[in-house]
Amino acid sequence: MNLKKLRCKTANFFFLKQSFTTIIIVTTSILFISLLFLTIIMANHFSKALLEWNKTNDREMPWKGEKNAYYIWLSEIILQQTRVEQGWKYYEKFILHYPTIQDLAAASEDEVLKDWEGLGYYSRARNLHFTAKQIVEKHQAVFPTDYHEILALKGIGNYTAAAIASFAYDLPYAVVDGNVIRVLSRYLGSEIAFDTTIGKKYFEVTAQEFLDQKNPATYNQAIMDFGATVCKPIAPLCEDCPFQQKCIAYNHQLIDILPYRAKKLVSKNRYFTYVLLVHNEDVFIRKRSENDIWKGLHDFFLIEDKQLLTEKSLLKALQKNKLDPSDITIAKASFFDHQQQLTHQKIFARFFVVPIRQLPVLEHYFPVNLKKIGIFAFPKLINYFLEKDFVSFK
Ligand code: SF4
Repeated sequence: MNLKKLRCKTANFFFLKQSFTTIIIVTTSILFISLLFLTIIMANHFSKALLEWNKTNDREMPWKGEKNAYYIWLSEIILQQTRVEQGWKYYEKFILHYPTIQDLAAASEDEVLKDWEGLGYYSRARNLHFTAKQIVEKHQAVFPTDYHEILALKGIGNYTAAAIASFAYDLPYAVVDGNVIRVLSRYLGSEIAFDTTIGKKYFEVTAQEFLDQKNPATYNQAIMDFGATVCKPIAPLCEDCPFQQKCIAYNHQLIDILPYRAKKLVSKNRYFTYVLLVHNEDVFIRKRSENDIWKGLHDFFLIEDKQLLTEKSLLKALQKNKLDPSDITIAKASFFDHQQQLTHQKIFARFFVVPIRQLPVLEHYFPVNLKKIGIFAFPKLINYFLEKDFVSFK
C-alpha cells in the first residue's frame, strides 16, 4: 500500500469516527431533551396529585411544621438511617436536654454520645456537637439562613441542607433521600442506577424539577411521607395509590427492580472477643478512638480475630496481649454470644468475664466501678449484653 492510500484510509477512518461520535452526541441530546420534556409534563401532574394526597394523609410527627432551623436540623440528623418511631424519643430527649444551640455546644462530647447511645452511626452525634460549636463561634449562635452556608457546615449534605432550607425558610430546594428516589424512579420508570455519579445528578435534577416551588416545605415532607407509607420498598400500596394510572413501574411490572442499584452491598463479618477483666468491683474499659465503628463510645478489652475465641484459645491470646494468665481465672461458663448487623459489617461478639487477682497494666484501658458503668456510652451490642447477660452473671 502506498503512502497516499494509507493517508486516505486514515482520513476516512477519522471522518467515520468523528461522524459516529457526532451521531452519538446528537442522539443522546435528543433523548435527554425528550426525557426532560416528558419529566416536566409528568412533574406538573405529580406535584398537584401529591399535595392533594397530603391533605388527607398528613402524618403526625413532633418536628412537622417546625420553623426553628436548629430543631429541624436535630430531627433530620436523628432521622438519617433511623425509623421515625425510634427517632421520635431521641428528638424529644435532645430538645429537652439541649433546648438551644448554645446548650448543645456547651455540653461535652461524652454527654452528647451518652444521649445518642443506641441510635447508631455515632459520627452523626460527633458532627452535631462539632457543628453546634461552630455555629456558636462563627455565626453568633444563629443558624445560617442561606442554603450554601448551611451546606458548608460539617455533617450537613445536600439532603439535610435542602430539608432545613425548605422547612425553616421556605426556600425552593428539593430533598433527595431514599424515599424520594424510590418514588420518582418508579413513577418515571427510570432505570438509571441511583448509586452512580450520573444517577445521583439525574435524581437531583429530576427532584428539583418535580418540586412545587410555591410550597417547597409541604411538598418535600409529602413526598417523603408518601415514600415511607405508600410507595414502600417492599409491598407498596399500589392499589390505593393516586399515581397508579400514570406510574410506569406499576404499568410495566418494574416495581420489584426499581429503584435500580449498580453496586451490590457487600457486608463483611468481624469477630470481636470481649474480655471483661474484673478486679474486685472494677471492670476495665476504654474509649474507642481509632477511625472505626463506634468511635467515641466505650468497650471492654477487645481481641479481634478471624473467629471468636474459645476458652482454650483465650488463654493464649491473653498471654500474647501481655496479660499474665497465671493471674487470671476464667469463670466457668461465663461467656455469651451476640450479633449486630451494621450497614457494611456484621459483628459477631463473644463476652468472657474474667476475674483477675492483680491489676494489669493496659494501655488505653482504665478501671471503672461496676456500679458506675451506666454513665459511660457503649454500643448497642454491649448494652444488650450488660442488661441481659451480665446482670445474671453477677
Ligand atoms: S403505583 Fe405503586 S409503584 Fe407506582 S408510585 Fe404508586 S405505590 Fe409507587
